[in-house]
Amino acid sequence: MSLSTRELIAGYPRHARAALDRVSLEVARGTTLAIVGPSGAGKTTLLRVIAGLLRARSGDVRLDGASIVDLPPQERRAALVFQDDALFDNMTVRENLRFALRSNGASGEARVAEIAAALHVGERLDRRPRQLSGGERQRASIARALLSEPSLLLLDEPLAHLDPSLRRSVRDEIVGVRQRFAGPVLYVTHDHVDAMSVGDLLAVLIDGRLEDVGEPQRVYDAPRTLAVARFLGERPMNLFADGGALLGIRPERVRLCADGTVPGRVTRRETTGADIYLEVETDRGTIVARVPAADRTQPGENAMLDLPAQWCRRFDSETGVAVA
Ligand code: ADP
Repeated sequence: MSLSTRELIAGYPRHARAALDRVSLEVARGTTLAIVGPSGAGKTTLLRVIAGLLRARSGDVRLDGASIVDLPPQERRAALVFQDDALFDNMTVRENLRFALRSNGASGEARVAEIAAALHVGERLDRRPRQLSGGERQRASIARALLSEPSLLLLDEPLAHLDPSLRRSVRDEIVGVRQRFAGPVLYVTHDHVDAMSVGDLLAVLIDGRLEDVGEPQRVYDAPRTLAVARFLGERPMNLFADGGALLGIRPERVRLCADGTVPGRVTRRETTGADIYLEVETDRGTIVARVPAADRTQPGENAMLDLPAQWCRRFDSETGVAVA
C-alpha cells in the first residue's frame, strides 16, 4: 500500500482558518513519514481526514492510487493510535488484542502472543490496562492496532504522556514496527528529535501548510522555508539580514575561533550539561553559538565567530523560501 493526499483542505465549523491548507504528500509502502509541527498546526486534523473521521472540504486521499476519500472509516482500514490510548478497561490486554483480531475476522492465540512479545507486553497479557505503566499501555495499543491488520498505521503523539525514559523504549518499538508492518506509517509529534529519529521521511506542518518534506537530515540542515528554520532544532536557526536576503545558520555550525570573521561580545551563556549556548551580540544582530561544555567564554568577553559558508542557508526575505 502507498498513501497520497492531494490538495487537502479541511477545517472545523466556526473556525476561521482552514486547519489544513492544500496539503499534498506521498508515503510509499514500507515508509514511515514523521509529521512534526507546533501545537495547532493541523497534525491531528490530517490524521483524522486520512482515517475518515473528518471530511475534507476538498482534495483527495488515495491508497495505492485509488481514492478513499468517500469511504467510511471502517472501510479504509486505517488504524489510529492516540496519545491517550483507548484500550477497553473492562478487558485484559489479551482480550483487547483478541478483540482486534476478531474485528478482522481472524483468531489465533499464537498471533496475539507473538505481537505482544514483539512489543514487550507479552508478560502483561492477563492484566487490565489500568494495571500497566503508561509505556506498556501505549505498546499494547500499538500491538492492538497491528492485529487489526490495517492498510495504514496512524500514530498520533503516542509518546506525549510518557516519561523521558519510557519515551525512548516506546520509540524503539515504533521503529521496530517496520519489521512487522509493510504499509505506510504516519507518525505525528511536536518533538523534532522524536520525528527525526522515527521518520524515514520528515514533513513539517505549520499553520495547516506543509512547509517541507524530505529526508530528515536534509530538512534539518537545509530547510525549504524560514518557518522550518525557526521551528526545527533545539534552538532556532540564527537568521540575519544579508544583502536583501536572510542568511541562516544553525547554532552548532557557528564556530568560535580566533580567525573568525564576525566580531562580537558574549551577552549570555546557558549550559545544557552536554554543551553551552552562547549568545553573541554582533553588528549583524544576536548570533547563538553552540560550543563544547569545556568552553570557558563568559558574558562580557569578546569573541570572534566563523560562519562557514557551506552551512549558511539563504532565504528570500519576502517569500521566506530558501534561494540556495
Ligand atoms: P495539532 O494536532 O497540530 O495540534 P489540530 O489538528 O488539533 O492541531 O488543530 C488544528 C487547528 O484546528 C487548531 O487551530 C485547532 O484549534 C483547530 N481545531 C482542532 N479541532 C477542532 C474542533 N473540534 N473544533 C474546532 N476547531 C478545532
